[in-house]
Amino acid sequence: MSDSLTASKSPASSSGSAASNPVPTIRLESVHKTYDLGEIQVHALRGVSLSIFAGEFVAVMGASGSGKSTLMNILGCLDKPTRGQYFLDGRDVSGLTKTELAKLRSHKIGFVFQQFNLLSRTSALENVELPTIYAGIPIAERERRAEQALERVGLADRAGHFPSQLSGGQQQRVAIARALVNNPSLLLADEPTGNLDSRTSIEIMDILQNLNSEHGLTVIIVTHEPDIAQYAKRALEFRDGKMKKDVLIQRRLIASEILPTLPSIEDEDDLDAIADRAAPSGS
Ligand code: ADP
Ligand code: MG
Repeated sequence: MSDSLTASKSPASSSGSAASNPVPTIRLESVHKTYDLGEIQVHALRGVSLSIFAGEFVAVMGASGSGKSTLMNILGCLDKPTRGQYFLDGRDVSGLTKTELAKLRSHKIGFVFQQFNLLSRTSALENVELPTIYAGIPIAERERRAEQALERVGLADRAGHFPSQLSGGQQQRVAIARALVNNPSLLLADEPTGNLDSRTSIEIMDILQNLNSEHGLTVIIVTHEPDIAQYAKRALEFRDGKMKKDVLIQRRLIASEILPTLPSIEDEDDLDAIADRAAPSGS
Protein backbone atom coordinates (compact mmCIF):
# COMPACT_ATOMS: atom_id res chain seq x y z
CA MET A 1 0.00 0.00 0.00
CA SER A 2 1.25 3.46 -0.79
CA ASP A 3 2.70 5.51 2.04
CA SER A 4 0.21 8.28 1.39
CA LEU A 5 -2.56 5.91 2.34
CA THR A 6 -2.72 6.54 6.06
CA ALA A 7 -4.27 3.52 7.55
CA SER A 8 -4.02 1.09 10.40
CA LYS A 9 -4.35 -2.65 10.67
CA SER A 10 -7.98 -3.54 10.98
CA PRO A 11 -9.66 -6.86 11.36
CA ALA A 12 -12.86 -6.61 9.35
CA SER A 13 -14.87 -7.73 12.36
CA SER A 14 -14.12 -4.45 14.10
CA SER A 15 -16.13 -2.46 11.60
CA GLY A 16 -19.25 -0.92 13.09
CA SER A 17 -21.73 -2.59 10.80
CA ALA A 18 -20.51 -6.04 11.74
CA ALA A 19 -22.13 -5.91 15.16
CA SER A 20 -25.60 -5.01 13.88
CA ASN A 21 -25.47 -7.43 10.95
CA PRO A 22 -23.58 -10.60 11.75
CA VAL A 23 -24.03 -12.12 8.27
CA PRO A 24 -21.51 -10.54 5.90
CA THR A 25 -22.79 -9.34 2.53
CA ILE A 26 -19.72 -11.01 1.06
CA ARG A 27 -17.66 -13.86 2.42
CA LEU A 28 -14.89 -15.55 0.49
CA GLU A 29 -13.29 -18.72 1.82
CA SER A 30 -9.95 -19.72 0.28
CA VAL A 31 -10.98 -18.64 -3.18
CA HIS A 32 -8.71 -19.65 -6.05
CA LYS A 33 -9.11 -18.77 -9.70
CA THR A 34 -7.09 -20.41 -12.42
CA TYR A 35 -7.43 -19.47 -16.06
CA ASP A 36 -6.74 -22.51 -18.21
CA LEU A 37 -5.07 -21.47 -21.43
CA GLY A 38 -4.30 -25.00 -22.58
CA GLU A 39 -0.50 -24.85 -22.53
CA ILE A 40 -0.34 -22.74 -19.40
CA GLN A 41 -2.47 -22.06 -16.40
CA VAL A 42 -2.69 -18.59 -14.92
CA HIS A 43 -3.25 -18.71 -11.18
CA ALA A 44 -4.98 -15.31 -10.81
CA LEU A 45 -6.29 -15.74 -7.24
CA ARG A 46 -4.40 -17.85 -4.74
CA GLY A 47 -6.48 -18.48 -1.66
CA VAL A 48 -8.38 -15.29 -0.88
CA SER A 49 -10.50 -15.17 2.30
CA LEU A 50 -12.35 -12.04 3.30
CA SER A 51 -15.62 -10.65 4.63
CA ILE A 52 -17.36 -7.43 3.68
CA PHE A 53 -20.41 -6.21 5.60
CA ALA A 54 -23.42 -4.20 4.50
CA GLY A 55 -22.68 -0.48 4.37
CA GLU A 56 -18.94 -0.83 3.88
CA PHE A 57 -17.04 1.17 1.24
CA VAL A 58 -13.98 -0.81 0.17
CA ALA A 59 -11.15 0.12 -2.20
CA VAL A 60 -9.28 -2.77 -3.83
CA MET A 61 -5.73 -1.83 -4.77
CA GLY A 62 -2.73 -3.56 -6.30
CA ALA A 63 -0.50 -3.57 -9.37
CA SER A 64 -1.76 -4.53 -12.79
CA GLY A 65 -2.17 -8.31 -12.99
CA SER A 66 -2.52 -8.79 -9.22
CA GLY A 67 -6.03 -10.26 -9.56
CA LYS A 68 -8.28 -7.28 -8.83
CA SER A 69 -10.59 -7.68 -11.83
CA THR A 70 -10.70 -11.44 -11.34
CA LEU A 71 -11.84 -10.80 -7.77
CA MET A 72 -14.48 -8.29 -8.89
CA ASN A 73 -15.81 -10.63 -11.55
CA ILE A 74 -16.24 -13.34 -8.94
CA LEU A 75 -17.83 -10.94 -6.44
CA GLY A 76 -20.15 -9.73 -9.21
CA CYS A 77 -21.14 -13.31 -10.16
CA LEU A 78 -19.74 -12.74 -13.66
CA ASP A 79 -17.34 -15.61 -13.05
CA LYS A 80 -16.94 -18.48 -10.59
CA PRO A 81 -14.06 -19.54 -8.35
CA THR A 82 -12.07 -22.55 -9.50
CA ARG A 83 -11.77 -23.60 -5.87
CA GLY A 84 -13.09 -22.23 -2.57
CA GLN A 85 -16.44 -20.74 -1.66
CA TYR A 86 -18.28 -17.49 -2.14
CA PHE A 87 -21.16 -16.65 0.19
CA LEU A 88 -23.36 -13.76 -0.93
CA ASP A 89 -25.70 -12.63 1.86
CA GLY A 90 -24.95 -15.90 3.60
CA ARG A 91 -25.79 -18.10 0.62
CA ASP A 92 -23.12 -20.23 -1.02
CA VAL A 93 -23.20 -19.18 -4.66
CA SER A 94 -20.08 -21.05 -5.76
CA GLY A 95 -22.10 -23.94 -7.16
CA LEU A 96 -24.85 -22.03 -8.94
CA THR A 97 -25.34 -22.34 -12.68
CA LYS A 98 -24.73 -19.45 -15.04
CA THR A 99 -28.46 -18.76 -15.31
CA GLU A 100 -28.89 -18.75 -11.54
CA LEU A 101 -25.93 -16.41 -11.17
CA ALA A 102 -27.29 -14.07 -13.82
CA LYS A 103 -30.60 -13.85 -12.00
CA LEU A 104 -28.94 -13.17 -8.68
CA ARG A 105 -26.73 -10.55 -10.28
CA SER A 106 -29.55 -8.69 -11.92
CA HIS A 107 -31.35 -8.20 -8.60
CA LYS A 108 -28.57 -7.71 -6.10
CA ILE A 109 -25.55 -6.30 -7.88
CA GLY A 110 -24.73 -3.24 -9.95
CA PHE A 111 -21.51 -3.22 -11.97
CA VAL A 112 -19.59 -0.19 -13.27
CA PHE A 113 -16.58 -0.46 -15.59
CA GLN A 114 -13.65 1.76 -16.49
CA GLN A 115 -14.77 2.02 -20.13
CA PHE A 116 -18.40 2.93 -19.26
CA ASN A 117 -19.65 0.26 -21.71
CA LEU A 118 -22.66 2.25 -22.90
CA LEU A 119 -24.45 1.38 -26.13
CA SER A 120 -23.48 4.21 -28.46
CA ARG A 121 -26.63 4.53 -30.57
CA THR A 122 -28.89 4.42 -27.57
CA SER A 123 -29.98 7.36 -25.43
CA ALA A 124 -28.88 7.76 -21.82
CA LEU A 125 -32.39 6.85 -20.66
CA GLU A 126 -32.51 3.70 -22.80
CA ASN A 127 -29.04 2.66 -21.65
CA VAL A 128 -30.18 2.95 -18.05
CA GLU A 129 -33.40 1.10 -18.82
CA LEU A 130 -31.72 -1.99 -20.29
CA PRO A 131 -31.17 -3.98 -17.05
CA THR A 132 -34.85 -3.56 -16.15
CA ILE A 133 -35.74 -5.58 -19.24
CA TYR A 134 -33.51 -8.49 -18.17
CA ALA A 135 -34.91 -8.25 -14.65
CA GLY A 136 -38.47 -8.57 -15.96
CA ILE A 137 -39.68 -5.21 -14.66
CA PRO A 138 -43.09 -4.36 -16.18
CA ILE A 139 -42.80 -2.05 -19.20
CA ALA A 140 -44.88 0.66 -17.56
CA GLU A 141 -42.39 0.90 -14.72
CA ARG A 142 -39.14 0.73 -16.67
CA GLU A 143 -38.96 4.30 -17.85
CA ARG A 144 -39.91 5.70 -14.46
CA ARG A 145 -37.17 3.62 -12.82
CA ALA A 146 -34.62 4.77 -15.37
CA GLU A 147 -35.59 8.41 -14.89
CA GLN A 148 -35.24 8.04 -11.13
CA ALA A 149 -31.82 6.45 -11.50
CA LEU A 150 -30.65 9.29 -13.78
CA GLU A 151 -31.92 11.76 -11.19
CA ARG A 152 -29.86 10.06 -8.50
CA VAL A 153 -26.69 10.79 -10.48
CA GLY A 154 -27.75 14.33 -11.37
CA LEU A 155 -28.40 13.68 -15.05
CA ALA A 156 -32.18 13.92 -15.36
CA ASP A 157 -31.71 16.69 -17.93
CA ARG A 158 -29.55 14.50 -20.19
CA ALA A 159 -31.96 11.60 -20.60
CA GLY A 160 -32.29 12.04 -24.37
CA HIS A 161 -28.58 12.48 -25.05
CA PHE A 162 -26.48 9.85 -26.76
CA PRO A 163 -23.14 8.82 -25.19
CA SER A 164 -21.20 10.78 -27.86
CA GLN A 165 -22.97 13.93 -26.69
CA LEU A 166 -21.83 13.47 -23.10
CA SER A 167 -18.50 14.08 -21.38
CA GLY A 168 -16.58 11.15 -19.89
CA GLY A 169 -17.80 11.99 -16.40
CA GLN A 170 -21.39 12.19 -17.59
CA GLN A 171 -21.07 8.85 -19.40
CA GLN A 172 -19.78 7.27 -16.21
CA ARG A 173 -22.73 8.74 -14.33
CA VAL A 174 -25.09 7.17 -16.87
CA ALA A 175 -23.26 3.87 -16.29
CA ILE A 176 -23.75 4.29 -12.52
CA ALA A 177 -27.46 5.01 -13.07
CA ARG A 178 -27.67 1.84 -15.16
CA ALA A 179 -26.04 -0.08 -12.31
CA LEU A 180 -28.59 1.34 -9.86
CA VAL A 181 -31.77 0.87 -11.84
CA ASN A 182 -32.70 -2.52 -10.34
CA ASN A 183 -32.04 -1.26 -6.79
CA PRO A 184 -29.04 -3.46 -5.98
CA SER A 185 -27.63 -3.65 -2.46
CA LEU A 186 -24.07 -4.04 -3.76
CA LEU A 187 -22.27 -1.76 -6.21
CA LEU A 188 -19.03 -2.99 -7.78
CA ALA A 189 -16.89 -0.59 -9.77
CA ASP A 190 -13.71 -1.73 -11.55
CA GLU A 191 -11.47 1.36 -11.96
CA PRO A 192 -14.47 3.69 -12.42
CA THR A 193 -12.22 6.76 -12.47
CA GLY A 194 -9.46 5.23 -14.59
CA ASN A 195 -10.41 7.23 -17.70
CA LEU A 196 -11.31 10.49 -15.97
CA ASP A 197 -9.43 13.64 -14.96
CA SER A 198 -8.92 14.27 -11.28
CA ARG A 199 -11.83 16.64 -10.65
CA THR A 200 -14.26 14.42 -12.53
CA SER A 201 -12.93 11.45 -10.56
CA ILE A 202 -13.80 13.21 -7.31
CA GLU A 203 -17.27 13.97 -8.65
CA ILE A 204 -17.73 10.25 -9.26
CA MET A 205 -16.46 9.51 -5.75
CA ASP A 206 -18.98 12.05 -4.45
CA ILE A 207 -21.80 10.09 -6.07
CA LEU A 208 -20.47 6.79 -4.71
CA GLN A 209 -20.01 8.22 -1.21
CA ASN A 210 -23.54 9.58 -1.32
CA LEU A 211 -25.00 6.24 -2.43
CA ASN A 212 -23.08 4.58 0.38
CA SER A 213 -23.98 7.00 3.17
CA GLU A 214 -27.49 8.10 2.14
CA HIS A 215 -28.78 4.96 0.52
CA GLY A 216 -26.81 2.34 2.47
CA LEU A 217 -25.35 0.76 -0.64
CA THR A 218 -22.31 -1.45 -0.08
CA VAL A 219 -19.63 -0.16 -2.45
CA ILE A 220 -16.47 -1.89 -3.66
CA ILE A 221 -14.18 -0.14 -6.11
CA VAL A 222 -10.92 -1.07 -7.75
CA THR A 223 -8.43 1.74 -8.09
CA HIS A 224 -4.73 2.21 -8.80
CA GLU A 225 -4.74 5.62 -7.24
CA PRO A 226 -4.04 6.00 -3.51
CA ASP A 227 -5.80 9.41 -3.61
CA ILE A 228 -9.00 7.76 -4.76
CA ALA A 229 -8.73 4.94 -2.22
CA GLN A 230 -8.69 7.65 0.46
CA TYR A 231 -12.43 8.22 -0.22
CA ALA A 232 -13.24 4.64 0.80
CA LYS A 233 -13.56 3.41 4.39
CA ARG A 234 -11.37 0.36 4.02
CA ALA A 235 -8.61 -0.64 1.62
CA LEU A 236 -7.43 -4.06 0.51
CA GLU A 237 -4.17 -4.56 -1.33
CA PHE A 238 -3.57 -7.46 -3.69
CA ARG A 239 -0.27 -8.82 -4.89
CA ASP A 240 0.21 -11.90 -7.07
CA GLY A 241 -3.32 -13.13 -6.44
CA LYS A 242 -3.14 -12.80 -2.67
CA MET A 243 -4.57 -10.23 -0.31
CA LYS A 244 -1.58 -8.64 1.37
CA LYS A 245 -3.20 -5.82 3.33
CA ASP A 246 -6.59 -5.05 4.84
CA VAL A 247 -6.71 -1.66 6.53
CA LEU A 248 -9.19 0.97 7.66
CA ILE A 249 -8.76 4.39 6.06
CA GLN A 250 -7.81 6.70 8.90
CA ARG A 251 -8.31 10.16 7.45
CA ARG A 252 -11.05 9.53 4.99
CA LEU A 253 -11.65 12.21 2.37
CA ILE A 254 -15.19 13.44 1.80
CA ALA A 255 -15.73 14.39 -1.82
CA SER A 256 -18.48 16.94 -1.10
CA GLU A 257 -16.00 18.85 1.08
CA ILE A 258 -13.14 18.66 -1.42
CA LEU A 259 -15.09 19.65 -4.56
CA PRO A 260 -15.83 23.27 -3.56
CA THR A 261 -12.11 23.82 -2.93
CA LEU A 262 -11.18 22.83 -6.50
CA PRO A 263 -11.20 25.20 -9.44
CA SER A 264 -14.42 24.69 -11.36
CA ILE A 265 -14.14 23.23 -14.81
CA GLU A 266 -15.38 25.10 -17.81
CA ASP A 267 -18.10 23.56 -19.90
CA GLU A 268 -15.27 22.63 -22.25
CA ASP A 269 -15.75 18.91 -21.92
CA ASP A 270 -19.50 19.13 -22.19
CA LEU A 271 -19.75 18.39 -25.89
CA ASP A 272 -23.30 19.59 -25.91
CA ALA A 273 -22.30 23.04 -24.72
CA ILE A 274 -19.57 23.18 -27.34
CA ALA A 275 -22.06 22.25 -30.03
CA ASP A 276 -24.47 24.93 -28.82
CA ARG A 277 -21.80 27.58 -28.92
CA ALA A 278 -20.47 26.48 -32.28
CA ALA A 279 -23.88 26.59 -33.90
CA PRO A 280 -24.06 29.71 -36.04
CA SER A 281 -26.98 31.76 -34.74
CA GLY A 282 -27.84 33.66 -37.91
CA SER A 283 -27.55 31.17 -40.74
P1 ADP B 1 -5.81 -6.84 -12.42
O1 ADP B 1 -7.24 -6.48 -12.58
O2 ADP B 1 -5.30 -6.67 -11.02
O3 ADP B 1 -4.94 -6.13 -13.40
P2 ADP B 1 -6.59 -9.45 -13.46
O4 ADP B 1 -7.51 -10.05 -12.48
O5 ADP B 1 -7.17 -8.85 -14.68
O6 ADP B 1 -5.64 -8.41 -12.70
O7 ADP B 1 -5.54 -10.54 -13.93
C1 ADP B 1 -4.86 -11.41 -13.03
C2 ADP B 1 -4.05 -12.41 -13.87
O8 ADP B 1 -4.94 -13.25 -14.57
C3 ADP B 1 -3.17 -11.75 -14.92
O9 ADP B 1 -2.00 -12.53 -15.02
C4 ADP B 1 -4.00 -11.84 -16.17
O10 ADP B 1 -3.19 -11.87 -17.30
C5 ADP B 1 -4.74 -13.15 -15.97
N1 ADP B 1 -6.07 -13.14 -16.59
C6 ADP B 1 -7.10 -12.29 -16.33
N2 ADP B 1 -8.19 -12.61 -17.06
C7 ADP B 1 -7.84 -13.67 -17.81
C8 ADP B 1 -8.54 -14.47 -18.77
N3 ADP B 1 -9.81 -14.24 -19.09
N4 ADP B 1 -7.86 -15.50 -19.34
C9 ADP B 1 -6.58 -15.74 -19.02
N5 ADP B 1 -5.87 -15.05 -18.11
C10 ADP B 1 -6.48 -14.02 -17.52
MG1 MG C 1 -8.16 -5.04 -13.78
